[in-house]
Amino acid sequence: MPSPVYFGSARQARLEAKESLPAKLDLIIEQLHLCDRVKNETVAIKMHTGNNVGYSTVHPVFVRKVVQAVKDGGGKPFVTDVNWDVRGAEERGYSMETLGCPVFPAAGPDEKYFYPHEHPFKNIQTWKMAGLIHDATFLINFAHVKGHPSCGFGAAFKNLALGGMVGETRGAMHDAMHFDPYWFAELCPDAFTRQRVAASCPHEAVVEDRDRPREMHLHFEQCNQCGRCLQVAPPGSLKIDPVNFYAFQEACAISVKLVLATFAPDKTTHLSLATHMTPMCDCFGFTSMPILPDAGVFGSDDIVAIDRAVLDVTGCTRLIEENLPTSLEVHKREGHPFRWLHGPYKDPYLVTEYGAQLGLGSCEYELIDVLPVEQIERAPIGYIPAA
Ligand code: SF4
Repeated sequence: MPSPVYFGSARQARLEAKESLPAKLDLIIEQLHLCDRVKNETVAIKMHTGNNVGYSTVHPVFVRKVVQAVKDGGGKPFVTDVNWDVRGAEERGYSMETLGCPVFPAAGPDEKYFYPHEHPFKNIQTWKMAGLIHDATFLINFAHVKGHPSCGFGAAFKNLALGGMVGETRGAMHDAMHFDPYWFAELCPDAFTRQRVAASCPHEAVVEDRDRPREMHLHFEQCNQCGRCLQVAPPGSLKIDPVNFYAFQEACAISVKLVLATFAPDKTTHLSLATHMTPMCDCFGFTSMPILPDAGVFGSDDIVAIDRAVLDVTGCTRLIEENLPTSLEVHKREGHPFRWLHGPYKDPYLVTEYGAQLGLGSCEYELIDVLPVEQIERAPIGYIPAA
């Protein structure tokens, strides 16, 4: 059965507050029956509070509405994120005064408060889950939608997968991309050829390993799978292989499964704000220009369905190419525009497919517009002769 995904479009018919996105978020909160579900619950509102001078994360006006709904329902809310993003969050507008609840580092100020979960996956054995999220009894996963260099896009899955774990596990999740071998040094013994391979990459994604002579290192985040290096590397010496790229998205799905499993059924919900969508993650510490038109706000109890809906809605719009940093390139216009930028092996839909396989939700959803945009009927424009 399709999962409901509630949606408030960024478009409005009239310039009135009741048709704005914060008002549509209120309608989504109503549809999710949030107030009725949080009585006496300790509610973790997992945000990405950004970093440094980033300003495109979820605006406090939206967060405060969620906080107020939790309070109205008799819950005890707190906003949470990883320690290095919470540090200085008040400079980006997130404080007790603006939000109406405290902002806590999810695993403590030094990330020493965590619960280990054993789940072998490639290089990872123990997943260290942030203690405050683990201890909460209700979870609101409130994501900002944007691109991401490791997996194409970040929204509900990404917000929880990385933010729900301590730094050591977050690092290991990124390192999962290096688990399967991709450089075969014996097939490229010549130092000059290795230099040529590195020089062939316009994104500095393939480099000579500083610590291990004869080895090459791939920065998967920077690689858009353009294939230029493969034209220089001796046959078989370098693999640009989906297995490495997919590992990160599978790790994200596993992480989300572990986090959600600590909550009782019906004690988690997901919100996503698809505005000012930049090509890279909010952790970059700055905000670049939006590359997709604002889409709106989404809400669902199904994490798979909400990310699918976000991708389907944002994927129908146009890439604002004039806003792209010149260091990025579009080399294959297939699938979602985030994939055009980050490469075919960083298909943003992949994490939802892994999530569905793990039983986290449904790829089938019903998109329910909480306030459809009224089409204003007008007579044709008349003719006024020049004076
Ligand atoms: S595939 Fe392209 S972006 Fe990736 S390492 Fe090779 S040259 Fe660089």
